[in-house]
Amino acid sequence: MSLSEVVERVREGKEDPEERVERYLEAIREKNPELNAFTYVEEDPDVPEEPEGELAGVVVGVKANINVEGMPCDCASRTLEGYVAPYDATVVRRLKEAGAVVIGITNMDEFAAGSSGETSCHGPTDNPRAPGRIPGGSSSGSAAAVAAGLCDVALGSDTGGSIRNPASHCGVVGFKPTYGLVPRQGLVDLAMSFDQIGPLAGSVEDAALVLQVIAGPGPDVEPTVRDQGVPRYHDLLDPGEVEGYTVGLVREFLEVSEPGIAEVAEDAARRLERVGAEVVEVEVGRRLVDVALPTYYVINYVEFFSATRRFDGRRYGRRIEHVCGREVLRRIVAGAAISREEVRGQYYERALRVRTWIRRRLMDALEDVDVLLGPTVPKPPHRIGEELSVREMYGYDVLTVIPNLAGAPAGTVPFDTVEVEGDEVPCGVQVIGAPWEDLKVLNVMAALEEVAPFDMG
Ligand code: GLN
Repeated sequence: MSLSEVVERVREGKEDPEERVERYLEAIREKNPELNAFTYVEEDPDVPEEPEGELAGVVVGVKANINVEGMPCDCASRTLEGYVAPYDATVVRRLKEAGAVVIGITNMDEFAAGSSGETSCHGPTDNPRAPGRIPGGSSSGSAAAVAAGLCDVALGSDTGGSIRNPASHCGVVGFKPTYGLVPRQGLVDLAMSFDQIGPLAGSVEDAALVLQVIAGPGPDVEPTVRDQGVPRYHDLLDPGEVEGYTVGLVREFLEVSEPGIAEVAEDAARRLERVGAEVVEVEVGRRLVDVALPTYYVINYVEFFSATRRFDGRRYGRRIEHVCGREVLRRIVAGAAISREEVRGQYYERALRVRTWIRRRLMDALEDVDVLLGPTVPKPPHRIGEELSVREMYGYDVLTVIPNLAGAPAGTVPFDTVEVEGDEVPCGVQVIGAPWEDLKVLNVMAALEEVAPFDMG
C-alpha cells in the first residue's frame, strides 16, 4: 500500500495511528538489536488523536544530524554525546505539521563523513538485505530502517551521496533534491555548500510525497532556499511522462563501475526504451569523473573544518579533536592545512574553479537530454569490518558527488541485484537532472521502478 493510501485510511478513521506506531515499535524491538539502525527510539511518541494533513499517521525515522526537539542529535559522535535537540529542524516541523510521527533517530557515519555506516560511535549498522555487509552511508540507519520495515519513510542528508549510496545498497529509494530546494535549517553541517536533506522511502511515490511536504522556502529558513513555486511532486508524479523524454546513458559512469553494476544500468536503459523513452549514449569526458573526487574532498575538508570550530568543548561538551574518530580527525587536520593562507590558492580556490567547470560540463551534457542515467555506486558493499584504504572508501562516492558539485537533483531506484561472493546484493541506478528539474528525475525514477526486475519483497 502506498503512503498516500495509508494517509487516506488514517484520515477516514479506518486505521488507528496509535496502532501503526505500536506495530513499528514492535518491529524495532524485534529487529533493531541486530541491525542497529535506530540509536534512539521514542517509546511514547506524540500521536495526534485525529491526525489530519498530508502525512497523517506516517511514521518517520530521522537521521542523527537533524534536530528533533527532545531527541538526541549527536551526529553519531562522542563530541555531542548527551546533546538533546532544543528545537525542530524546519523539515521536521513541516513533517509534524503534516501529521507525521517521529519514531526515533537513525544511525549514521560520524558527522555524516563516510560511505559505509561503520564510523558511528554507536557501532555499525547492518544491511537488512545483505546481512554482514555494510548498508552504505552515511545515512546508514535511515536506509536500513526503511528496508527492514521499521518505519514508513526516513530522512537522510546527502553531501556527496549519503542518501543515494545507502539507498542503493539496501534496496530502497533515495532522493537528493536540487541544492536550495529543501531548507537545511536544523541540519548539522558537514559541508554546507553541498548538504541537502531528502527522503529515503519504499517507493518513488512515497519519496515524492515526503518531498512535497518538506520542500520550499519559509519564514525561518536560509536565503539559499528558493521559491520555485514548489511543485506538487507527489500529485504531479507521472511515470508515463518518460515517453517524451530523452535519457542519456553516461558512458564514463559505466566505465568506472564494476561490470555487473554497469550491466544493471544498461539493462535499466533498455527497459526504459521499451516503455517509450529515447535512450542515447552521452559522453561527459573522462576528465570530469577523474577530477570529481579530489574537487569534492578538498571543498568538503575545508567547509567541514570550518563547521567543526564550534565544537571546541565550551558550548557542546567535548572538544571534537579529543574524542572523534579517525575519518573526522583526518578531515579536520587536512582541512586546517589546506585552508592556510599560503596554500589556499593551490587547493581550495583551485577546487572551487574546477567545481564551476564540472557544473558547466554537466549542464552541457544535460542540454540535449532530459536526464542522465548510470550506476549509483560503482562497486558493491564490502563486509562490515573489512579494512579499506581511504582511496577505496572514497571510491564509493565517485558517481554520487558529481550532482552535489553541480547542485543538481539526483535519485536512486532499486533496480536489480548483483552477486558478490555468493550474496545477492541490491543495486540501484541513478538518475540525474538539471537543477530545479526534480520532478523530471522523479518521473524517470518512477518509470524505472515499474520496469525493474528487483522486487522490494
Ligand atoms: N561519503 C561522502 C563523504 O564522506 C559523502 C558523505 C555525505 O553525503 N554526507 O563526504
